[in-house]
Amino acid sequence: MKKTSLQFLQAHTNLANVTNGLVPNLFAKTNQMNGGKITYDLFVETVEQVPIAISITDKKAKILYVNEEFSRVTGYQPEDILGTNESVLSDKRTPKEVYYDLWHTISSKKVWRGTLCNRHKFGHRYIADLTIAPMLDEQGMISYYIGMHRDITLEHEADKKAVNQKLLIESVINSSPMAMVVIDDQDKVILDNHNYKALVSDLDKGEPATYFLHKLRDEMGGLWTQLQSKEQGFNHREFRVEGKGGRRARWFSCAGNWFKENEVHVDAFFEHATKQYLILTITDITRQRRQMEERHIQTLKTIMAEDERVRSIRETLLGAIHQIQMPMNQIRAAEQILKHKGDGQNAGLLQILQQIQQSGEEAIATMQKCIPEIVQTTLISVNLNQILHEVLLLNDQRLWSQGIDVQWQPQAQLPALPGSENRLRILFKQLIDNAIDALSASETGEQRLKISTDADDELIYVCIEDTGPGIPVEKRSKVFEPFYTTRPTGGSQAGMGLVMAKEIVNQHHGFIDIDPSYDLGCRFKISFPRYRQEPRGVA
Ligand code: FAD
Repeated sequence: MKKTSLQFLQAHTNLANVTNGLVPNLFAKTNQMNGGKITYDLFVETVEQVPIAISITDKKAKILYVNEEFSRVTGYQPEDILGTNESVLSDKRTPKEVYYDLWHTISSKKVWRGTLCNRHKFGHRYIADLTIAPMLDEQGMISYYIGMHRDITLEHEADKKAVNQKLLIESVINSSPMAMVVIDDQDKVILDNHNYKALVSDLDKGEPATYFLHKLRDEMGGLWTQLQSKEQGFNHREFRVEGKGGRRARWFSCAGNWFKENEVHVDAFFEHATKQYLILTITDITRQRRQMEERHIQTLKTIMAEDERVRSIRETLLGAIHQIQMPMNQIRAAEQILKHKGDGQNAGLLQILQQIQQSGEEAIATMQKCIPEIVQTTLISVNLNQILHEVLLLNDQRLWSQGIDVQWQPQAQLPALPGSENRLRILFKQLIDNAIDALSASETGEQRLKISTDADDELIYVCIEDTGPGIPVEKRSKVFEPFYTTRPTGGSQAGMGLVMAKEIVNQHHGFIDIDPSYDLGCRFKISFPRYRQEPRGVA
């Protein structure tokens, strides 16, 4: 122990000598508690060498004693500092309120703990983690203060760096145009950015991370656990999210990356433990999707217009052939009768009938040659929701201009149907066109078109209903016959639309019916078997 420090303490305490003084008093108490096993010198040596800067002051903070660590931390040797005020350590950057609080606390006989900015003897600053305890005499009055401090500059810098790093990460993820979220192994969101927060209110799906995790796990199945265990990321997982409150559907693309972090919990102090997190990024790709969809619809419009033209020519020619067949059959019958009579009186008439028949057959053959071929399409897995959605988009303009209220109720997870995309599109276009025509002819106030899809274990159902004039009961069985129309004016395809519709449904092994229980207009109910069957010459 340095003599100067202890001697100074002896000289400036109001105690008679060091054996009756502060330190021996403390020692005496400690010594009694420990059954007299440690010596006074040992106690003094301990205080002197303890690795924390200790100073003892009088009531005005005049320094009476400092230990070795104090000299190491502050740079002041006892001879430099004994007798001066602790304020010599003050950097003057510490706000006045801190000192006010310090003095208010210790003068109220309480222990003060806090952080100050101190100045080292050589001029550089350091952060001091300081505890000051008042020491009371036998009357309970403050006699000294004992200060204990540590230089925590490095810890403080490390803490600040960690905070800065967190702020940096937050500002980077906040500036990202994508919604970003970090999810722990319990699917709990532990960090998110502004764009993610915006999604929470935009989507109306509760926690968006939970919603997308559910969709991703559903879609990826076993692949999810596989990627997770290998910490391999995933990309470009796209999902359609139905719009909130009648708004249009939106599209999102998800990407994810797993990472592990060392556990900070006290239980993991001696055991190396890690926790896995997932960084999920969610990008709104609605605009790109809509542009793609618009381009797709434009192409479909062109293809369908051409298809319709070809089919219209085909149906018209087939209809004309069908119509010519009837008088031809009658002529053939008349010819047979005349031949049967066998009297040469009607030879001229017979010849005329034969000529008519020949020219008729030639006309039919010419017409048959003119029937345009329909390009064969392949059977694929068709999403009827997508087809119906496209057909609605194709009719967007008509529906909107006629103020028709469209109620589109797709079943969320509709199974795919093995079929011809093109033919099915024609089928639904025909039925929806019919419904729009019926609604425009309707005189009732409500103009509603409802389209819904559904499925059970065996069948996929589509229901198209309108609030138009409907089809009278006695005519319902006839509307599927060629050239039958309920419309007064007819048209180039008059009476062939539903024939074609039924043909397409048949080709897909399905059924089409008019619902007899619906009396607000017309409701077509179509059902298809879910599982692949031999195609019936699908064109
Ligand atoms: P000062 O003029 O010393 O005081 C500023 C304000 O403090 C005053 O306005 C008053 O509100 C209050 N104050 C000062 N002295 C007293 C008093 N005796 N009673 C009641 N209120 C008072 N300061 C450091 O900066 N670093 C240290 O490491 C440090 N260690 C200390 C250890 C001990 C044991 C004690 C008792 C004090 C310590 N101090 C320390 C506080 C130091 O004494 C000064 O109060 C402080 O440094 C402010 O100094 P100053 O010259 O700016 O203002």
